[in-house]
Amino acid sequence: MSQKRIAIFGSTGSIGTQALDVIAANPDLFSAEILTAQTNADLLIKQALQFNPNAVVIGDEKKYEAVKEALAATDVKVFAGEGSLEEVAALDCYDMMLAGIVGYAGLRPTLKAISIGKPIALANKETLVVAGDIVMRKATEQRVAVIPVDSEHSAIFQCLVGEGRNKIERIVLTASGGPFLGKKPNYLVNVKRDHALQHPNWSMGAKITIDSATLMNKGLEMIEAKWLFNLQPDQIQVLVHPQSIVHSLVQFEDGSIKAQMGLPDMKLPIQYALAFPQRIPNQFPRYDFRKPNTLTFEEPDIKTFRNLTLATEALKKGGNMPCILNAANEIAVYAFLRNRIGFLDMTELVERTMQKIAFIEKPTLEEYFESDGEARNFAASLIHM
Ligand code: NAD
Ligand code: MG
Repeated sequence: MSQKRIAIFGSTGSIGTQALDVIAANPDLFSAEILTAQTNADLLIKQALQFNPNAVVIGDEKKYEAVKEALAATDVKVFAGEGSLEEVAALDCYDMMLAGIVGYAGLRPTLKAISIGKPIALANKETLVVAGDIVMRKATEQRVAVIPVDSEHSAIFQCLVGEGRNKIERIVLTASGGPFLGKKPNYLVNVKRDHALQHPNWSMGAKITIDSATLMNKGLEMIEAKWLFNLQPDQIQVLVHPQSIVHSLVQFEDGSIKAQMGLPDMKLPIQYALAFPQRIPNQFPRYDFRKPNTLTFEEPDIKTFRNLTLATEALKKGGNMPCILNAANEIAVYAFLRNRIGFLDMTELVERTMQKIAFIEKPTLEEYFESDGEARNFAASLIHM
């Protein structure tokens, strides 16, 4: 394998920093050519000095001078501001984009990379939730691979290698259940941000950690799976598996089931996506079947965790509904993180926004952008009341 040049969008996040660990451990195989951060200029500078990329982007324009100055002795190009993410994604200095930005902000740079024929290692699930039809269609047109990094989707992708055109009967997305597994609304109503940020199995960014606690994450992942694997809504099932060892399952037409398993560690799906189709050795801890460990599976409690019901509704309805769900959810999660609304209010906000914003069956990209904006404005207006 010749050295692959990676563009890491969101390099200062949980996915981004772990991707850089994988790159640092395999310098013959990978280099980091683009690094981007929204606000954490100090870490971006540190990463740039270590990896000597072609270009960096700092989203917060106020920090441009500081980054520029710190990298003055290098030949790293420094960009600032939201628009420069697309500009940098259009550079021809990399072979693969790791889409590790969180939320809707990841959509445009990823579309830009696809439009110039760059394969995508996709962590940013919101990209497919918002505009999955357009993203996957453009990827097919450009003949670029979209390789999932999300652990469940990486698991399914790995199960499908070698299966050619064999039909999927259904997939099972496993969910840890998050920190509030087994809890009821009378408990959840009082949950505060610091508690919700304690995930039992995974250490992740704040937004996805809250999404995991509300089960919205699994709802977003159902929509993500629909687009990645071309599935109908009724082919996608969710099961709670608190040990997070079975990362997901695929059942084929003959009833045979394949699973991908391992300890919960995002470096593995990140490494898999970067090195695909090769598997490369590593020193990550191994799961040991000899140690006493029970693997359990149960139906999710969709009465309590209503986000899963809302996401299933959006999945079935299609059109701009997943985009509306996502936008309202982003507003809700950040409001919860700022202690502006309660844990259960997040679901309420998403539900009311889904009822309010006009449905469009086959949106254009512009219409997705508009729906996103309208949904955000409406959801935000509910908070200020
Ligand atoms: P994070 O919050 O730790 O990091 C987000 C990164 O995106 C940071 O580098 C930040 O600077 C950048 N960013 C944030 N807002 C931005 C904006 N408006 N414009 C440009 N850049 C911005 O998030 P994370 O946990 O690394 O998650 C990243 C993505 O990967 C999310 O879509 C998440 O759902 C997905 N994902 C994460 C994990 C995980 O274990 N962390 C697992 C599966 C999927
Ligand atoms: Mg996941």
